[in-house]
Amino acid sequence: MSDKKGMFIDTSVCTGCKGCQVACKEWNKLPMADEIGLTGNSYDNTGSLSAVNWRHVKFIEQFSDDRSQERWLFMTDSCKHCQQAGCMEVCPTNAIIRTEFDTVYIDHDICIGCRYCVSGCPFGVISVDDIKGTAQKCTLCYDRLQDGQQPACAQTCPTDCIQFGDVDDLMKQADTKLELLKLNGNSEANIYGKSDVLGGLNVFYLLMDQPSVYALPENPQLPSKKQAKSYFMSVFGLIGIGLVGLLTFRANRMKQMAEDQHQIQG
Ligand code: SF4
Ligand code: SF4
Ligand code: SF4
Repeated sequence: MSDKKGMFIDTSVCTGCKGCQVACKEWNKLPMADEIGLTGNSYDNTGSLSAVNWRHVKFIEQFSDDRSQERWLFMTDSCKHCQQAGCMEVCPTNAIIRTEFDTVYIDHDICIGCRYCVSGCPFGVISVDDIKGTAQKCTLCYDRLQDGQQPACAQTCPTDCIQFGDVDDLMKQADTKLELLKLNGNSEANIYGKSDVLGGLNVFYLLMDQPSVYALPENPQLPSKKQAKSYFMSVFGLIGIGLVGLLTFRANRMKQMAEDQHQIQG
């Protein structure tokens, strides 16, 4: 057994009850949001992950134009505890660390609230709490893991949608479940978070449709990769501008020479 702990989120059995959200708030003593209100366009009133919502159950509510047909998908979302974590890569104070459970944890004593990690995470997971002045996200209940317990959300989930354990074992379970779903005609079902996604997500998902349907990026990138790409784009851009300038100069020069010759002959 490895020390790599994580979660298999089986969205095929999520009922959208939000028990996991409540358990997270309660265990981690996260306050209510300042404003509570109906969004007006969804049964989900949380909207997104935030400094005070480390877990959020996404509601994907699909209706036909005449609203006679409908489909509901749910996905309980949180930090993915990525193998290649963009947040860790950009943190200037090394406040974001990898724990003995291979999870990604923010040390609030070292965090200076600079917000680099907010833009470094390709999943929009981290927010800075304006009152505490530090970055906030799911810890995979680090305190509970140290105590030999499973995370609060996993313990609470009534349908076993959130399964906690050894990542390699969980991935085998997910593969078996995926096979079963496909046999039952769920052709779009897929696993999101294998090694092709940032080296693997310790918190990975069995989805019932394509990742984009759940607003998950198809090909999330590390900040360094994005930077390298924009660097090359800038270099090629500069070369292009230089070439255009050179060609324009050459054309003007040729034109001038032709005019001079014409005057001499005249
Ligand atoms: S999901 Fe975002 S916050 Fe969580 S480990 Fe990955 S990059 Fe960091
Ligand atoms: S693992 Fe713990 S901190 Fe993370 S979402 Fe679940 S309850 Fe919240
Ligand atoms: S993951 Fe479990 S607890 Fe959370 S909404 Fe789905 S069924 Fe409810």
